[in-house]
Amino acid sequence: MLVVMKAQATEEQISAVCRKIEELGYRAHSMPGAQRTAIGVTGNRGEVEPGTLDEMPGVQELIRVSKPYKLVSRDVKAENTVITFSGTDAAFGGPGLAIIAGPCAIENREQTMAVAEQVFRAGAQFFRGGAYKPRTSPYSFQGLGELGLQIMAEVRDKFGMKIVTEAIDNESMDLVEKYADVIQIGARNMQNFSLLKRAGRARKPVLLKRGMSATLEEFLMAAEYVMSEGNYKVILCERGVRTFADHTRNTLDLSIVPAVQRLSHLPIVVDPSHGTGKRNKVTPLSRAAIAVGADGLIVEVHHEPDRAMSDGIQSLYPEQFDALMKQVRQIAPVVGRMVPAIGNYPRASEALSAQSGVRSAISPLA
Ligand code: PEP
Ligand code: MN
Repeated sequence: MLVVMKAQATEEQISAVCRKIEELGYRAHSMPGAQRTAIGVTGNRGEVEPGTLDEMPGVQELIRVSKPYKLVSRDVKAENTVITFSGTDAAFGGPGLAIIAGPCAIENREQTMAVAEQVFRAGAQFFRGGAYKPRTSPYSFQGLGELGLQIMAEVRDKFGMKIVTEAIDNESMDLVEKYADVIQIGARNMQNFSLLKRAGRARKPVLLKRGMSATLEEFLMAAEYVMSEGNYKVILCERGVRTFADHTRNTLDLSIVPAVQRLSHLPIVVDPSHGTGKRNKVTPLSRAAIAVGADGLIVEVHHEPDRAMSDGIQSLYPEQFDALMKQVRQIAPVVGRMVPAIGNYPRASEALSAQSGVRSAISPLA
């Protein structure tokens, strides 16, 4: 059920309704919107017993939500959710596109810094990299663990990019939550319900990847799990689904972007790297993702893809990522978006000039 508050309802009236909902044994999710606040009610097995809610000051109406997902739905919140980060223009769901780039896995400090510098110069505001890797083979590189997270924290310190990294289980979640700016839940874990609930109790935004055979409804229900625990900062990510096609690793389902946007207020980004598995398809599908209206991209980039410990064949060379960013900057305005300028991050300019020996301003187009 949804309790829609009047536009002029006061904070006290909203809190009183939330308290009443909790007294009735349910959970209240207050969702402030541009026009009015709606309060989602969850935790009910059957119909919510509205009790005296209807009569409380500030309440406009009670609406039954018939869809299985509630908090992710536009019924609860009509406007797009925008997830912002302190000290930067980087955001998901606003007019600026969110560009996340970096290697599949954090392999060592040198590799990480080399890739980080290049993607930062090209204009990424978020740096990706796995410290915990969910690999198909138990004999493949599993990630550096906490050391990988520490190296990523150094990247944030040096360049100001926000860090996106995956938690693969409840144990790694504690550390990932401590170091990351955005917690990634991988495709293989999209229906790991205990992990989703744990992510819902985390205090960081969650980037939730679509499972390889998940329907739209299953995808939204996974996001609902996170939100039902009180974390409303969820970013959806299309990363390709498994089909009969064998010219790509997965089939990137770009049609899910407008489908999600119709039903949900949550931002959605596209991963053309896992979505195609082929380097030569990453740039064309990135262009298409921006054109279709995605809120951003997550792209694998490696300075030496042939030597990468995972996903080298789908990783762009830094020059290719730079060229891609130039194209994205041109496509974005056609769909009313833009790529935020690189933040003036003092320590990044120091770090870069010390490395190159040149005291020049950082130019995203250089
Ligand atoms: C990744 O981002 O490196 C990854 C493992 O992605 P996915 O969960 O989409 O396979
Ligand atoms: Mn990968």
